[in-house]
Amino acid sequence: MKIVCPSFSWLGDKTPDGLAILARIARAGRTAYLSEPKGEDADFVRRLIQRGHESVLEHAILSVTIICDRGVSHEEVRHRIASYTQESTRFCNYAGDRLGGEIAYIDLSGGIEHDAIVSKLPREQIDAILIEWMQACEDAERHYMRMIALGATPQIARSVLNHSTKTAVSTTMNMREWRHFFKLRHAPDAHPQMRELTDIMLPAFKDVVPVIFDDIE
Ligand SMILES: Cc1cc2nc3c(=O)[nH]c(=O)nc-3n(C[C@H](O)[C@H](O)[C@H](O)COP(=O)(O)OP(=O)(O)OC[C@H]3O[C@@H](n4cnc5c(N)ncnc54)[C@H](O)[C@@H]3O)c2cc1C
Repeated sequence: MKIVCPSFSWLGDKTPDGLAILARIARAGRTAYLSEPKGEDADFVRRLIQRGHESVLEHAILSVTIICDRGVSHEEVRHRIASYTQESTRFCNYAGDRLGGEIAYIDLSGGIEHDAIVSKLPREQIDAILIEWMQACEDAERHYMRMIALGATPQIARSVLNHSTKTAVSTTMNMREWRHFFKLRHAPDAHPQMRELTDIMLPAFKDVVPVIFDDIE
């Protein structure tokens, strides 16, 4: 078994060109006014957002690959205005050599740190919770490997894998939907492990196109 941290990467690895995204949105937006570019695209896009004219943001997309646990991925894919491709527990055989012969789990410590109640427990109590979690993951891995050894296919053996199992989800959303996603998923009542992930993602999105994400805290 191996424990990994949640993360994300830009699909295609290269950091997206924020100026090109703004130029595309501004060009689409100017159709409404049949206006020529004057001033910065960023200022134009900021005014669109301030007026609530957010449908124009749908002309640009960003794609990422998210590494998270299955539980967080269930929440992510509830967002309907998006495209997803997810690691398949039907077709990936974690017992095989190609995938290292072990199950990868997303570290629960980060989720605990983001949980308002659990994070305030005494350290020894948190450690005891983590030990129970580790044992449950080890048990699930042992049963999975044994089921495969007995002839089960991955799509049958996956039944014993838990919410902590690591998954990869390539995700494409338009900029309006990413704004909506972060407003819901970077909020205090979002799941702690979802917030752990959006704590990493939102600053990176702000770096690429500040004007589109700066108003989301
Ligand atoms: C804190 C929190 C707790 C949650 N708890 C639960 C839970 O207990 N159980 C549960 O099942 N889900 C739960 N959810 C998921 C939630 O109900 C939504 O499915 C999810 O957040 C997707 O959001 P959305 O529907 O606004 O947006 P998206 O699917 O991202 O769509 C974006 C927007 O498009 C519009 N839209 C999309 N589809 C339609 C449509 N068919 N008709 C009209 N307008 C549409 C809406 O304006 C919507 O806000 C929770 C979400 C959060 C953030």
